[in-house]
Amino acid sequence: MLDGWTDSNGVARQGLRQKFQRYNLPGKRVRITYIGQPGADALSWQELEYIRNSGEQIVQYFQTKWGWRVRPTFYYNILLYTDMNEFRKDTGAPKGALGMALVSPRMRDHGELVFYADRRNPNAWEELEATILHEMFHCLSNHCYGDFPISMEEGVAEWISLRLAANGRGLLDKRNRQAQVMAKFHLNGSNGDFIKTYMNCNSYEAWEKEFKDRMVGYTLAEQLVDYFMADAKRTAFLVQTLHGAAGDANTTAKFARLMDANYPGGLMKLEKDWYAWMKVKFNKPAAVPVVAARPRGNAGALIIDPVTGLPVRRAPPPRVDPSTGLPVKR
Ligand SMILES: [Zn+2]
Repeated sequence: MLDGWTDSNGVARQGLRQKFQRYNLPGKRVRITYIGQPGADALSWQELEYIRNSGEQIVQYFQTKWGWRVRPTFYYNILLYTDMNEFRKDTGAPKGALGMALVSPRMRDHGELVFYADRRNPNAWEELEATILHEMFHCLSNHCYGDFPISMEEGVAEWISLRLAANGRGLLDKRNRQAQVMAKFHLNGSNGDFIKTYMNCNSYEAWEKEFKDRMVGYTLAEQLVDYFMADAKRTAFLVQTLHGAAGDANTTAKFARLMDANYPGGLMKLEKDWYAWMKVKFNKPAAVPVVAARPRGNAGALIIDPVTGLPVRRAPPPRVDPSTGLPVKR
């Protein structure tokens, strides 16, 4: 079933095989299959609930804010490896990668994701949570949009995952510091050259060739997305331009052309505005994430008491007197 699949970099990822039975989390959008030693290294129920909630949050975000149509039957199928060697052997994941989304134009009905999680590593969850959110975006963009412009694919995935992740504040601070260094190096005196080259790079290898570092396409693109997202009019413009490129044989080139033609002053001015905006931002304390910082409460969500390990019953919401707006004593 996975034969001929590629990851979001377009690299063939064959030879994946499902070895263990899956179970479904409550709710329909997330299915998890453990590969390795089932049980011992399993994620906790809170973590599984978190994955389910964030899968739903990403869907809702792009449905309500970007107008994406997500089929009610869309789901994420997650293969969770507990053995690093097995994970790398099966998936061909590069060293250091914790997970990836497998995307294919032929299979856009659901998202297929593979991750490595080792519970013996005390930071396993922290490292995994933002990665899962990031990869979920690739699945959703494949489902709703198809071939997403490469210039924006990682930028949007990073932008949304850093803001939805429960530890997003810490991750954002770290990422902003990296971006500050990169921006100084690539954008000082660039005069529009950086953004023109960047927007027209058609592969991750091209980022490496042009900028000597693939991370530029993640870190600086996330800043570019944040520049657009920081203002409602600019957000609408970004979404409109992205949607204008959808369906083209080369969405990356089309997006670059549309940006150059429609951004007031073209790409050169965009780079100037963006860099000036970044400089101001880096001199201020990190902004409060604009998306919910923790999983949204869900009536069906299971909350576990960390001491007893038993489900916790939620307190009912206070009754409010409609005339005074104050809580009513029971
Ligand atoms: Zn990615």
